[in-house]
Amino acid sequence: MSFKKINLVKPIERAIAEEGYTVPTPIQQQAIPIILDRKDLLGCAQTGTGKTAAFAVPILQILYNEKNLRDKKRIIYSLIVTPTRELAVQIGESFSNYGKYTGLKNAVVFGGVPQKAQTDKLRAGVDILVATPGRLLDLINQKFISLKDIKLFVLDEADRMLDMGFINDVKKIIAKLPAKRQSLFFSATMPSEIVKLANTILVNPVKVEVTPESPTVEAIQQGVYHVAKPDKKALLIHLLKDPAITSALVFTRTKHGADIVARKLNKAKIFAESIHGNKSQNARQRALNNFKAKQTRVLVATDIAARGIDIDELSHVINYEIPNIPETYVHRIGRTGRAGLGGTALSLCDTEERSYLKEINKLISKPIPVIENHPFVSNKKSEEINKPSEKSKPHAKLKSSKHVDSSKPNKSNRRNKVSKRAWTNRDGN
Ligand code: AMP
Repeated sequence: MSFKKINLVKPIERAIAEEGYTVPTPIQQQAIPIILDRKDLLGCAQTGTGKTAAFAVPILQILYNEKNLRDKKRIIYSLIVTPTRELAVQIGESFSNYGKYTGLKNAVVFGGVPQKAQTDKLRAGVDILVATPGRLLDLINQKFISLKDIKLFVLDEADRMLDMGFINDVKKIIAKLPAKRQSLFFSATMPSEIVKLANTILVNPVKVEVTPESPTVEAIQQGVYHVAKPDKKALLIHLLKDPAITSALVFTRTKHGADIVARKLNKAKIFAESIHGNKSQNARQRALNNFKAKQTRVLVATDIAARGIDIDELSHVINYEIPNIPETYVHRIGRTGRAGLGGTALSLCDTEERSYLKEINKLISKPIPVIENHPFVSNKKSEEINKPSEKSKPHAKLKSSKHVDSSKPNKSNRRNKVSKRAWTNRDGN
């Protein structure tokens, strides 16, 4: 199926073509017609599936088609609420890219920066507002924003809103929306509290699910190293000496940990930057831009700072620490292998983290292959984690990858790069 079948208006079709998209991703194929049909939508999709365009493209089309019916004065007609500043910026950029020939304007508001630039933009008039919950409520209370004309509301990454403690803010925002509206609700996972929240927002929604069976993105090679905690830094440095790692996002559990790891890497002459919630918004954006522009090879981040970061062609995700929530693992590794590109996710697991690893293996329904050939092998055997069938062939799943033998950095190990233009539907359509 090509984008032609979706009947996009010319200005949007042109912008999409310029992005290099020819085939809609599965979530786009399903969601765009439903949204254009003006129905509520419950979307269960992980990051990297193309879900931003799945809602941004039809919203732009609806607004573009109704532009002439509305007042000359711009009013906020569509609101997208998302948990993190980085995601908000990215969604705003997506609206700007896909909508560049529509004449529609968007603004992005988020906390941690002075509000003046944001309120100036709002005063000049916008059609679409992308916001994080706290700053949105703040600007509503200051009367810079009114939600009374919202016709299209999107709640993005709802499960993360819950994890980050934003659920009450979200409820306050929903209470301010007009009752008559179209609502789109996206979440990577659907725990019962999220289903309850969705029921309060949506009216007769159409449910769209993308690969709910196996949450791990198929295109991603995975491997885990069992290593004693004190050896983790040395192992990380060892791994990053492999020139095949062209760009790596390294996850730590804490902000402090992110700074320490970045410092150690720099000491070892591996240029790295860190991003986390204690850094100023400008510092975070700068580090992110450097990483996206490939000026920084290694970015060390906490989950919240990295949530939803959209980096094209990220070759490796490295879990310096194993997340205690198994879904977080899926979110983390979803940073690589985006838009049909391959990628590698490596995890460093110490003895204390083995119970977390067990939970992850359960969630993804197959154990992450253990990589035993490295200089810092932990004394404790990995048998506790893996099923017997995996024990005899610890590298079975990674056989095709040269990363298996990490003690020998291999120049020829280039990941299998698939052109953005050649998006292949993972559902096999
Ligand atoms: P998202 O899940 O919205 O964060 O999107 C993940 C990545 O997929 C982004 O880099 C998008 O630019 C890219 N993308 C989205 N839709 C398509 C498409 N139809 N074809 C190729 N790439 C896409």
